[in-house]
Amino acid sequence: MYCQHCGKEAKEGSVFCENCGKPFEKAPPGAGKLYAYELTRLTVPDDTRNPGVAASLGFFLGWILLGPVGYIYLGQWNWFWLTFVIQIFAIPLTAGVAYILLPVIFAIHQYQMAKELNEMVVTAREKGQGDLDDDMPAIMEE
Ligand SMILES: [Zn+2]
Repeated sequence: MYCQHCGKEAKEGSVFCENCGKPFEKAPPGAGKLYAYELTRLTVPDDTRNPGVAASLGFFLGWILLGPVGYIYLGQWNWFWLTFVIQIFAIPLTAGVAYILLPVIFAIHQYQMAKELNEMVVTAREKGQGDLDDDMPAIMEE
């Protein structure tokens, strides 16, 4: 990675630049490799989502092959289509093993994605002008 202040190359994971001494800004949530590509990029929703609801949708609907619906709840249509297509191929290819695993995978992933999205919503609000206090998101209750 490169220092965003002086442009000098720095060790991965450093907290301060060895050249200019300025602190590196933390990468924004959702900037991880998994979400770096267009196909998997996360859309910041306009409001926080309940991770428990997202996980329940993924788990219970997963048994009738609608686990990807949880991604619609999270506002991530690209993930809906991506996982919808993957499961169509994964179930016959794994002789049904994927059928048993997918509800669990959807539940875990949608739960984590909801938490990540909520962080992104909070970060976006903190950056936004002024109207921070109107309704502090439900994420705080956890
Ligand atoms: Zn620097």
